[in-house]
Amino acid sequence: MMIIMKANATPQQVENVIEQVKSAGLAVHLSQGIEATIIGAIGETHNILADRFEGLDGVDIVQRITQPYKLASRQFHPENSIFPLDGFSVGGDEIVVIAGPCSVESRSQILETAIAVKEAGACALRGGVFKPRTSPYAFQGLGEEGLEYLAEARAQTGLPIVAEIMSQVQLDLMVKYVDVMQVGARNMQNFNLLRAIGETQTAVLLKRGLSATIEELLMSAEYILAGGNKQVMLCERGIRTFETATRNTTDINAIPVLKKLTHLPVILDPSHATGHVDYVAAISRAAIAAGADGLIIEVHPDPARAVSDGKQSLKPEAFAAMVKQVGQIAQVMGRELATVSREKA
Ligand code: PEP
Ligand code: MN
Repeated sequence: MMIIMKANATPQQVENVIEQVKSAGLAVHLSQGIEATIIGAIGETHNILADRFEGLDGVDIVQRITQPYKLASRQFHPENSIFPLDGFSVGGDEIVVIAGPCSVESRSQILETAIAVKEAGACALRGGVFKPRTSPYAFQGLGEEGLEYLAEARAQTGLPIVAEIMSQVQLDLMVKYVDVMQVGARNMQNFNLLRAIGETQTAVLLKRGLSATIEELLMSAEYILAGGNKQVMLCERGIRTFETATRNTTDINAIPVLKKLTHLPVILDPSHATGHVDYVAAISRAAIAAGADGLIIEVHPDPARAVSDGKQSLKPEAFAAMVKQVGQIAQVMGRELATVSREKA
């Protein structure tokens, strides 16, 4: 339920409504926009009548949030969510380009890639250290050693780092090292993990599951938001269809659909969505034209020798050319590419 306060409501009136919501056994989530203050009363609200809050001083109207996801819905938070990430912001006018290898393989590989992607115009560095591999015999990631290399790359380039968390046992380590925790497609509905991440204040990149609907993605985001962590980006990374010409099928529709349904930033991953370097630039351009807030792209200095996802990893030169094209599309959309402000240490 949303309690929309009058434009001239006083802080005491807001405070009083909050107290009343709490005494009804509901959780309070405040959304203070330019237009209005909205108090979200979240929980089992079907037995609670709207008039319980309607008559309170300062209240304009009380509305039910019709979607099953509440905090993630644009109804609850009409303006785009914009949050800072080490020198730039996500979800506003700037387009974020996150780039780096699928896996952190060695100190030299991640340092070389970080310098190259920064030079090419990326504003954040990705690199997996805990890898969700289909085969238990495939490379599983460097773990903490990899996080140390990522931190060194951040110190050298100023690029914030994005890495995937696979389990709650990795939470403390991830919070200590990374700027953005990626929740991978295979973990999108790991509800215990989502709840645990919701209790942190580390930004999250939540990927859509291989066969998940848009509504399921938003329900997963709701788990994180309900815990109090508001810094959630959603990531379309392709879905499973009958098509076999590409690794997955990019659901371009998901971009405008998500932008309509939610206030959260929307990122596209053309590397996993297509599975092949030949298609990454085209789908990146399409994503920005469709209204995405950013891209996450796999880049490797020597894709043929990459331990994972080499086929879909761009070489730094191809990535640089792609960033230029994306920058032009961004301009047409009235936006610009985010850049990192911090210079090489
Ligand atoms: C990845 O980003 O390397 C990855 C494993 O992605 P996804 O979870 O989308 O498959
Ligand atoms: Mn990968």
